[in-house]
Amino acid sequence: MQAFGYGSLGEDKKLEPVMFDRKTPDKGEVAFDVVYCGVCHSDLHQVRNDWGNTIYPCVPGHEIVGKVTSIGEGVSKFKVGELVGVGCMIDSCQECSACNDNLEQYCQGPKSCTLTYNGTKNPDGSNTYGGYSTAMCVREEFILRVPEKLDPKFAGPIMCAGITVYSPMRHFNLQKGQTLGVVGIGGLGHMAIGIGKALGAKVVAFTRHDDKVAQIRDLGADEVVVSSDDEQMQAAMQSIDLMVNTIPVAHDIAPYLTLMKPNGTLVVVGNMIEFKAFSPGPLVFNGINLAGSLIGGIQQTQEILDLCAEHDIKPSVKMIGIDELNDVFEELSNASQSDFRHVIDMQSFVKSDAVTNEQAKAIEAPIA
Ligand code: NDP
Ligand code: ZN
Repeated sequence: MQAFGYGSLGEDKKLEPVMFDRKTPDKGEVAFDVVYCGVCHSDLHQVRNDWGNTIYPCVPGHEIVGKVTSIGEGVSKFKVGELVGVGCMIDSCQECSACNDNLEQYCQGPKSCTLTYNGTKNPDGSNTYGGYSTAMCVREEFILRVPEKLDPKFAGPIMCAGITVYSPMRHFNLQKGQTLGVVGIGGLGHMAIGIGKALGAKVVAFTRHDDKVAQIRDLGADEVVVSSDDEQMQAAMQSIDLMVNTIPVAHDIAPYLTLMKPNGTLVVVGNMIEFKAFSPGPLVFNGINLAGSLIGGIQQTQEILDLCAEHDIKPSVKMIGIDELNDVFEELSNASQSDFRHVIDMQSFVKSDAVTNEQAKAIEAPIA
């Protein structure tokens, strides 16, 4: 089937309209029209090749809500017309111990898990294209139910930003009454505040910007610390049980270690590039655990969708047309965005010349 999207053809290129062929559903697969897709900072990292692993053309998008258009033989969980969700993965071996433990993101099979876009771990190195596109086809095991109580506009960001901060809260067993620290209040960070509160934690947000303090309090944070203010940082020393650090760039971790209680755990989810050299002394002397975490498994992603629906936890989103993506990327790269998450409404794109008159660049088909 013909699909249209926005993709980048090279590291220094902007996103532009593209068109390509998508497969129709085989056995066990579900095809859907994309209705909404959230914009994650990872999309920007991949398009700009910050992680050195991008294959072009790159069609990002992994916070996807769609409406089922057809199903392959044997699909039992989804029906035509139903709303469905897809997050950061579309495949894994389904056999290894990680997959058996519902941790498909850590699949130990030969291909590891296949990411929704730039899924470069396919054996032949070929690519996958994500949700900045009109249509997709995904195996049913990687498709999520969008809870009826949840406005579908909000579902996308929960399947990446939400699960990425929820999973470490569960894995490190965040308890009622414990103090959760959240560093970097953007797409991931703002969701961590609502989710941490729903789990009964006291939530302390760390931001660089004092002009964001009131907005962050409105999100439900019990305290907001401006990280550039030494006095405020000093006052927060040794106060945090679990910290989720979402800063998207290489940075100095040392100031954040001082905030941890003995036996506390600092989880890095944002920076995958490098840390400046730091002394492990505080880790040793205060028994601090330094950890990392990648999204979450499919079962847990469904769990956080359901939990957000039940507790009415909504990401704060600004709806955009797909042609606004390059501006949003610019804002994200300057960290100048005034909105926590952007979500593409695919409706306007479907009616645009790029689609109706096929005025989009033809690119090779993705493998999935
Ligand atoms: P956003 O850009 O929406 O938010 C990041 C926040 O970090 C900003 O709002 C800002 O918060 C802070 N920040 C930005 N730049 C800097 C800087 N130079 N120094 C210090 N703080 C900074 O990004 P997302 O929330 O979408 O993603 C965050 C990171 O998480 C990205 O690197 C992304 O790739 C990664 N990610 C990881 C996943 C995983 O599975 N581990 C899954 C999804 C995303 P403030 O203004 O409050 O200081
Ligand atoms: Zn993401």
